[in-house]
Formats: sequence, C-alpha cells, structure tokens
Amino acid sequence: MTGDFIRVKCPDCANEQITFRKAASKVVCSVCGAALVVPKGGIGEIKGEILEVVG
Ligand SMILES: [Zn+2]
Repeated sequence: MTGDFIRVKCPDCANEQITFRKAASKVVCSVCGAALVVPKGGIGEIKGEILEVVG
C-alpha cells in the first residue's frame, strides 16, 4: 500500500472513479468533466471526496 491510488467522488455529479493521487496532469470526472485532481507541487490537490485509498 503506497496510497498512490484513491477512489474519489465527483463533487458535481457523485460519480466515483479511481485515480492516481500524484497526478502530473489534471484528472477530470469521466462523466461530467469536473476537475477531480489538480497537480500541485508534486502531489495532487484532491477536489472531490476521497472515499477510499486503493493502493
Ligand atoms: Zn462528475
């Protein structure tokens, strides 16, 4: 477990998806396109709700 992958809930549409936490580029919701992770100083800033740390 490194904590690099998280399950995050979209703040706009409640879609859940698994994403890399230390994203080098912006991660958007696959349903509505809202930003879920924004790269910031080597670790992603999580915009949605973290439901679970996957791995
Ligand atoms: Zn969404």
